[in-house]
Amino acid sequence: MINCSDSVFEPEICKRLIAETPMSVMVTDSNLRIIQVNKSFVDTTGYSAAEAIGQTPRLLSSERHDTQFYKAMWHSILDTGQWQGEIWNRRKDGEVYPEWLNINVIRDDEGSVSHYAGVFSDISAYDNSRKRLHHMAHYDALTGLANRVLLYDRLGQAIEKARRDKAMLAVMFIDLDHFKRVNDSLGHRAGDRVLNAVAETLRQQVRQSDTVARISGDEFVVMFTDIQAVEHLAKVAGKMVAALERPFDIGGESAVHVSASIGISVFPMDGENAESLLQHADIAMYKAKESGRNSFMFYTDQMGKVLQEHLLIERDLRKALDNQELTVVYQPQVCAQDHRITGFEVLLRWYHPLRGWISPAVFIPIAENAGLISILTRWVFTTACLQLKDWHQRFDQSLKMAVNISGKQFKLGRLDEEILSIISSTGVAADRIELELTETSLIDNVDKATEILNSIREHGVCLAIDDFGTGYSSLNYLKLFDVDKLKIDRSFVQALFNGKSDSEIVTAIIGMANNLNIAVIAEGVETKEQLLFLQEKGCDEIQGYYFSTPESPAVIAQLLAPSENGQN
Ligand code: C2E
Ligand code: CA
Ligand code: CA
Repeated sequence: MINCSDSVFEPEICKRLIAETPMSVMVTDSNLRIIQVNKSFVDTTGYSAAEAIGQTPRLLSSERHDTQFYKAMWHSILDTGQWQGEIWNRRKDGEVYPEWLNINVIRDDEGSVSHYAGVFSDISAYDNSRKRLHHMAHYDALTGLANRVLLYDRLGQAIEKARRDKAMLAVMFIDLDHFKRVNDSLGHRAGDRVLNAVAETLRQQVRQSDTVARISGDEFVVMFTDIQAVEHLAKVAGKMVAALERPFDIGGESAVHVSASIGISVFPMDGENAESLLQHADIAMYKAKESGRNSFMFYTDQMGKVLQEHLLIERDLRKALDNQELTVVYQPQVCAQDHRITGFEVLLRWYHPLRGWISPAVFIPIAENAGLISILTRWVFTTACLQLKDWHQRFDQSLKMAVNISGKQFKLGRLDEEILSIISSTGVAADRIELELTETSLIDNVDKATEILNSIREHGVCLAIDDFGTGYSSLNYLKLFDVDKLKIDRSFVQALFNGKSDSEIVTAIIGMANNLNIAVIAEGVETKEQLLFLQEKGCDEIQGYYFSTPESPAVIAQLLAPSENGQN
């Protein structure tokens, strides 16, 4: 409450102060008729004193606040003699702006209301920076998409709404395939342009009401509300995969190719809250990647069970080495022409005390993800080197040993030092050792892989590309890595007589390898027919059940020394 008689200011000073203060001042009589405004009021609202005087403050109303708001305001004014807060008003030119407003009741000597004084300042500049801050906290600076914070926020709200409405909503987790390669080969600027192009593409694929977010480097999430049918999601996901597969023109010499793997989870079936929906969409995305990238996959309860299962296997695998549950077997590789054994591939076996045999195809990926692969490789590699040394001494110095190396190991420690140290400590000839690596594992780690493999190859160790034909099958990479051998994947061998294209692929791989002076081996050869085909096309070596399944050292020793056992 203002009481002029309490003021320490002279009335003249008070007048000047009010007239010239940068705060806007408006005084009304007890009937809310404006009787006085100052210069700042005129500047802020755009109304001249003459236009304002005689009007009520409704002149400035923005209609942004409901009656409840004004009720509460008047309640406070009449109760306490004042009110302050943020309010949206409208200038003469129609612009709505936020102001910070103080309203005070002025009473006469008898104590009745004689005037109301409103003092306010335009806070739109402050409000803009507040909005900017809010924007920065909720949107991705590069693409302008929602960020993780906003996504969680909206997802949380959408889940609540869907729960109330008994509706479905879906989360799509989108991860670009090999985006790192774009960054590495074309630079971060180009990488940024690609991310922007991807963001734009995603925006175009969804409705206004759906949220597209970028949650980290090359990971995007789209939230779909109000899903009518899951089939519809499959359609959208298919369209997205196709749209992201198309080359992006980012202004460079040539268009850039990326593709994406998408995982989808649906509320309420696949998760009750934001975390579990995102986690399950992420798992489904990994499954899509595993299944060959550039595809989408729905989360299934089964995946959750598989994950659970993986955790159990991981726990047991940690103990398996100590408990001596792991062994290795050796599968002969033979010359395609005379069927003489030239070497072996060492393959890991695990006999679980309760589950029995577990395939390496199951536990190797788990070991990779659990960070156990280095320990396993070290053990397999050492065992195989010692075994080979023994066979060299007993049978044939020219026998070779192929060892599978996981691509994950390029990211961990010094693979070259580890391998060379095992070779030297076991005393086996380095040029009799062959590392089997898949194309994908090399290409996903090009720089590290070239460096490490060059260092290993300097010591004479050979390099074979495993599962050839299933990845990029790129000649450039073969040159980059100075490859000794290609291993045609068994899926091609097994499909040889099922359709024309597989036999053509196999013929082409052999022809290409011959041209480049790279040896070729076919794996998974099970029939005489397959053998004859491969022989005729010029395949150098053969591996498969037709000659021998993977066997224990004792059985292999019998194969290597038939005469010792009365065979020939
Ligand atoms: P891979 O490197 O492609 O190994 C060849 C697989 O084909 C082996 O399966 C082998 O037993 C199987 N195989 C061989 N001949 C035939 C045949 O004629 N027909 C059929 N149907 N299959 C045949 P396995 O031993 O189950 O190994 C599966 C995968 O596990 C391997 O595939 C390899 O990627 C991985 N693996 C096995 N041992 C190791 C290891 O010590 N280290 C790493 N990093 N991976 C390993
Ligand atoms: Ca292999
Ligand atoms: Ca293979």
